Amino acid sequence: RLHNLVLELKGNIRVFCRVRPLLPSEQEAGKGLEHLHFPPQDNGALVLSRPEESHTGRSCKGNTRYDFSFDRVFPPACSQADVFEEIAQLVQSALDGYHVCIFAYGQTGSGKTYTMEGPDNLDQETLGMIPRAVRQVFQGAQELEPKGWEYSFSASFLEIYNEGLRDLLVGRSDQAPDLEIRRVSQASEDLHVPNLRCVPVASEEEVLKLLHTAKANRSVAKTIQNDRSSRSHSVFQLCIKGYNTDRALRCASVLSLVDLAGSERLKPQSKTERLRETQAINASLSTLGLVILALSKKEPHVPYRNSKLTHLLQNSLGGNSKMLMFVNIAPLEENIGESLNSLRFASTVN
Ligand code: ADP
Ligand code: MG
Repeated sequence: RLHNLVLELKGNIRVFCRVRPLLPSEQEAGKGLEHLHFPPQDNGALVLSRPEESHTGRSCKGNTRYDFSFDRVFPPACSQADVFEEIAQLVQSALDGYHVCIFAYGQTGSGKTYTMEGPDNLDQETLGMIPRAVRQVFQGAQELEPKGWEYSFSASFLEIYNEGLRDLLVGRSDQAPDLEIRRVSQASEDLHVPNLRCVPVASEEEVLKLLHTAKANRSVAKTIQNDRSSRSHSVFQLCIKGYNTDRALRCASVLSLVDLAGSERLKPQSKTERLRETQAINASLSTLGLVILALSKKEPHVPYRNSKLTHLLQNSLGGNSKMLMFVNIAPLEENIGESLNSLRFASTVN
């Protein structure tokens, strides 16, 4: 059943838009999401209406209407299970040898980390896409065992900050300096990151432990540099190898789940460090967009090398791979500007 599974993808790229619900504090402050509309007859449509400003600065009656169309739009009431249901097949195809890349894109506070990992106080219902995907892969592998398939898995978790790579499975003090992306061998196009911890895992529980470690390592860094996590990309990767009954390698793939840095345009700051950060984030996000665009147009040159993120994912993007982008949207009217930027970004890659 699984091995002749055909995914109906528009090309190899799908784009899902998710609008998070109002937080209790936002509800108390009387905020609303009247400017966002979810046409009930089309689960891929999102309409945003922006009040027009008159010359005197007061808003007049007119609204500008923006129509967007995605492979799927998840309104605020959608649960993590609802969302995962739509990506389960895609995740499963990693067991068939496809590289699978899932990204979360959006401004800080739009729900990227909630979507990928879940909230801080996790329970079974709020588990994010990473733990759900891991569960799905291990369950799927078990189901394939009677058919003569055996799998081995290893996991890594890294952070890209200011175009530097840091291992999230290693404590800050034990950190090897400057992780680099290198070719596996001179003859190979395959890339790897020497010294990155890649941990053999055999169960969902083992991976969950690693996710805890990564979270702990990241929050230590947070106190060192305020809200650093919103300015870095975090990349979780599960390497999957499938063998036949003679223990011969039949397929190898990587399932990557990427919580991207906040896409907001930061206000210019005098601090050069902040400026460098801003440039690094914007450059890597726009490079990601350009890479996806080049792949979808089947252009001969794909600018993977222009950012650490796309370089790292070079083997997992394009070719034998499937890609999914979540565009996370914050529901407040004051976020309209950033929401429009995110939706437009997503529309160009869709
Ligand atoms: P980001 O990672 O994009 O900065 P977060 O994932 O941290 O955003 O989300 C911001 C806040 O909104 C958090 O408090 C988070 O728990 C909450 N949140 C995000 N998405 C949802 C959702 N679908 N349901 C409930 N709360 C959510
Ligand atoms: Mg986050």
